[in-house]
Amino acid sequence: MTLAAYTPRSLPESLAGLFSLALDLRWSWHHGSDVLWRALEAETWDSTKNAWLVLNSVSGERMAELAEDPEFLRQYQQQIQAHDEFIHAGTWYSNECSGSLENGIAYFCMEYGLSECLPLYSGGLGVLAGDFLKASSDLGVPVIAVGLLYQQGYFRQALNPDGDQLEFYPYNDPTMLPVSPLRDEDGQWQRVTVPFPGRDIRLRAWKAQVGRCQLLLLDSNDPRNEPGDRGITSELYSGDPEKRLQQEMVLGIGGWRLLRQINIQPTICHLNEGHCAFALIERALSWQVDHQADFETARTANRPTNLFTTHTSVAAGFDVFPEPLIKLYAEPWLSGTQLTPQRLLALGGRNVTSSESQHTGSLNMAWLALNMSGRVNGVSRIHQKVTQAIFQPFFPRWPAEDIPAGYVTNGVHTPSWDSPESDAIWTRACGKDRWCKPLLQSCPMTDISDQDLWAMRLAQRSRLIHYLRQRLTSQHCEHDAAANSEKEQTAACGLLLDNETLTLGFARRFTEYKRPDLLLKDEERLVRMLTDRDRPLQIVLAGKAHPHDSRGKQLIKRWKQFSRRPEVQGKIVFVEDYDLGVASQLVQGVDVWLNCPRHPWEACGTSGMKVLVNGGLNLSQYDGWWAEAWTDEVGWAIRPEASFEELENSDKHDEDDARELYGILEQQVIPEFYELDHDGLPKEWMKRMRASMDQLTATYSANRMVREYVEAFYQPMVALGHQRQPEVAGGIVQEYREIEKHWPKLRFSAVNMQESEGLQTYTVDAYLDGIPEPRIAVELVAEASEYGPRTLAKMEMKFARSGSGHGFVYECTVPARPDGHYTPRLRLKDERLNLPLENPSILWLQ
Ligand SMILES: *Cc1c(COP(=O)(O)O)cnc(C)c1O
Repeated sequence: MTLAAYTPRSLPESLAGLFSLALDLRWSWHHGSDVLWRALEAETWDSTKNAWLVLNSVSGERMAELAEDPEFLRQYQQQIQAHDEFIHAGTWYSNECSGSLENGIAYFCMEYGLSECLPLYSGGLGVLAGDFLKASSDLGVPVIAVGLLYQQGYFRQALNPDGDQLEFYPYNDPTMLPVSPLRDEDGQWQRVTVPFPGRDIRLRAWKAQVGRCQLLLLDSNDPRNEPGDRGITSELYSGDPEKRLQQEMVLGIGGWRLLRQINIQPTICHLNEGHCAFALIERALSWQVDHQADFETARTANRPTNLFTTHTSVAAGFDVFPEPLIKLYAEPWLSGTQLTPQRLLALGGRNVTSSESQHTGSLNMAWLALNMSGRVNGVSRIHQKVTQAIFQPFFPRWPAEDIPAGYVTNGVHTPSWDSPESDAIWTRACGKDRWCKPLLQSCPMTDISDQDLWAMRLAQRSRLIHYLRQRLTSQHCEHDAAANSEKEQTAACGLLLDNETLTLGFARRFTEYKRPDLLLKDEERLVRMLTDRDRPLQIVLAGKAHPHDSRGKQLIKRWKQFSRRPEVQGKIVFVEDYDLGVASQLVQGVDVWLNCPRHPWEACGTSGMKVLVNGGLNLSQYDGWWAEAWTDEVGWAIRPEASFEELENSDKHDEDDARELYGILEQQVIPEFYELDHDGLPKEWMKRMRASMDQLTATYSANRMVREYVEAFYQPMVALGHQRQPEVAGGIVQEYREIEKHWPKLRFSAVNMQESEGLQTYTVDAYLDGIPEPRIAVELVAEASEYGPRTLAKMEMKFARSGSGHGFVYECTVPARPDGHYTPRLRLKDERLNLPLENPSILWLQ
């Protein structure tokens, strides 16, 4: 069995299992095999956390030595056996819902954050996709993921002494990444092609093993491609629209073709963000070939089993490509199919119901995803509302409240974010399998003493500070020519960070809406907190600004300059090159995690969830997940109960939020941390820590998230898919073509209202022009007002008007409201469809 393209060496037969161990990224969270990699080459392992690289760089001599070392062999055998047991063990899925997802889920995403040694991500979206995959592996959910193998990925960051961001794009040699070429049974390397204007792009396929799941990766760096094309998959989010379109075509079209080529016919296709929407077109096209059907039938047949998850908070966040670019690239792709570039543009232009091909002159990937999907979801309760608002234009004349977007709040893969100390404590309290269990079996840590919990915090904080000192020594100390005394130098390096001091962490993308400068609104006030003799604060920061985001870079610089003020030196550190490795250190060690995005811009936010398992507390804007999680007991919220309607005037909000943030720190966080009882423990703080760990850790885990996707989305979608057999889909298309012909002639005629005893009875006449009456629903709608909440009452069809046979009378009785508050509306009704997603036709009484 050859796993790798470039076999690093012939391993001693007795150690051959190291290949598959090193290629299963499970080591990135499981840590069982750490001892092996450290034994092979401690330095490489410690500095890269890349087991595959370790295996590739260890000397033959060392290998031979270990092959004779009984202790190593014992550990090796143990790990091989444990891995084997893991592969064959029962899981939640295999025990409780085996087979219900049939051929499983194809999961598409532009980025995956699985480990710092596989740098195929830029931030939250990728980390979420990585955590989703790891939790799917834990639970045994049959997911196969598809992504791109970037040769350079997102930029790597350093800062110069002035605080300017420097960007580097080191080359990721795929042979040194923990991935292997995807081969067919004959050992042939799998390749797929995607037609581009005037040439075919050849894509190489790779495989990353993520426990029980696989991540397939495509890259265009095939020597037979033209030089320019070899770089399509080099950078992530480079900012060039044409390159972006090329990447999205490679991912969506190439990805679907690859699955087909290796005979995987997923039952569900899940898009994590609209970037990968071309996969749904390609899915429909290939279905069409298999079933000899027209494109519209293919679209209708596949739709119920396509899920679109959006993470965007502003409409400007959608990818939109101009018509000429789409035409150029769609011609070669779609030639020989029934789908015209015009029709493709229409599918990405607005909600289309039939074969019309009028379009708006550009292609919006979110609209395309909506037109191809059967279900849609946002990623937190607030984000559901935001999603309804930004998708509203796709549903002309539909109120935002009725837009069919659900939500699944994101979660983090707990075993990837816990520290050795917290892992030990949770194991003691709740057993080994705790992160795979249903949520209801939460386990308060009643048997764990305050002493033990506080010792855990101290150990974690000390390790973070140790890590920071090491990292900062190599980071910016040498740069600091301005510091002349040794003390100043040490201070500038952050080496004065203190193991016992309340440590606040702030790490995220440096971009305006995240407001990384909120704490700097009143520098003097912050200085006072940092320099308080008895109750000091220290701050650890990290984050990258997108290379084109000059505002974001400015914000980094501000922090760097602030940290240079002599009185705060050694109390603030900025860690360069924020990545998964830095994140995992920070979330283990900090006492308080700060997140202060501008409401309601944070779709969900996940970084704060990562501190929960480690006993860190959150101080956050009441936004994203925190708006669901926060109570007085578990942490602190800035501007709780804010509603997202009151968005305007953000400058004033910034000022108010900053004031509130300072107040919470000064009056609540800092005193509580330093308020020790006679045992020397901060009792109130510990209470809060326990509440946060107990109430939030399991809820905001990817375990909960993946179960929710399975139970609330995938399983019902599989069932709906079954009802959409090819003939049924064909019938639906026919029927709705007819309905559309009649629709423009529909109208309401008379409306009547009679009132008695506080009730009003409304009667309306509707003319249906031959649309079968059972396909129509008439409703009476009143918006929320001082007379009551929003109501939506079904109007009963009472009788058909004699005459044409197309007139019907509808009626309902509702609590009285003033004239004009109730409005009748008429829409389609069909249990087979997800309405209004699949057909937004609606008529309001004028
Ligand atoms: C968790 C994580 C993120 C996402 O953080 P948010 O600020 O909550 O969106 C981004 N980058 C890295 C490296 C992370 O680990």
